[in-house]
Amino acid sequence: MDTTDVAAIVTGGASGLGGATVRRLAADGAHVVAIDLPKAIDTAEKLERVDYIGADVTDGDQVQAAVDAAVDTGLPLRVVVNCAGIGTAGRVLSKKGPMDLGAFSQVVTVNLIGTFNVMRLASAAVAQTEPLEAGARGVIVNTASVAAFEGQVGQIAYSASKGGVVGMTVPAARDLAQYGIRVMTIAPGIIDTPMLAGVEESFRNELAKGIPFPQRLGRPDEYAQLVAMIAEHDYLNGEVIRFDGALRMQP
Ligand code: NAD
Repeated sequence: MDTTDVAAIVTGGASGLGGATVRRLAADGAHVVAIDLPKAIDTAEKLERVDYIGADVTDGDQVQAAVDAAVDTGLPLRVVVNCAGIGTAGRVLSKKGPMDLGAFSQVVTVNLIGTFNVMRLASAAVAQTEPLEAGARGVIVNTASVAAFEGQVGQIAYSASKGGVVGMTVPAARDLAQYGIRVMTIAPGIIDTPMLAGVEESFRNELAKGIPFPQRLGRPDEYAQLVAMIAEHDYLNGEVIRFDGALRMQP
């Protein structure tokens, strides 16, 4: 699929992987609607031909308004990329007692339910577009994490949320196949974004050493390059791609 002159939605579009994806899709000729929390949108670097919309991915009305904005561009909405997400730390059981249920649900609500919320509302709009060759209409790319497979100590909620994103991939691809909409998931390893802002330089170097090749953290533009490749490649569907330099986390 050619992403020139299509509309695209990118959540988490004010920062990190979402920000890089916005830049890449816009550079490739798409009209991008970048969704993020209002406070993140306020401080984001703004690009031409990108609409920045403050919306919480967990809110149906706010996401619908962003989908409507993408449709109102007059271009067919064919690319939807879910990058909005939050991390957390918390063990099942610590000296303070069992993990707080609210903290667990917040992560699952943003990372899993938010991703589903965008997928369900945006797919309805993609399904309305004129089909391309062989009935293809568009693609949804969700972002999981290698933590879905090898969560570390303190990642229980994050791993559960990302495991849910992985789990949605095949059934969503099957559900949406009749509309010509593909669904793919990228499971990044360790990518150098503001999400790692609190990580010390020495620990970053330690992390990089654990990546077989290349022995460095991934870059957001490399993630965006993969999104562009997925969008372009009509035969990629219902698959989870690890994007991690062959990283396998040890306990
Ligand atoms: P980031 O913090 O730079 O960007 C995440 C963005 O999501 C932020 O701009 C934030 O404001 C936005 N966001 C958070 N909650 C939101 C909500 N409710 N509604 C709308 N927007 C919301 O982080 P990133 O590294 O770019 O992460 C992007 C995605 O990639 C996340 O889902 C993250 O879990 C995943 N991921 C990142 C890494 C990594 O190493 N950076 C690894 C694996 C997975």
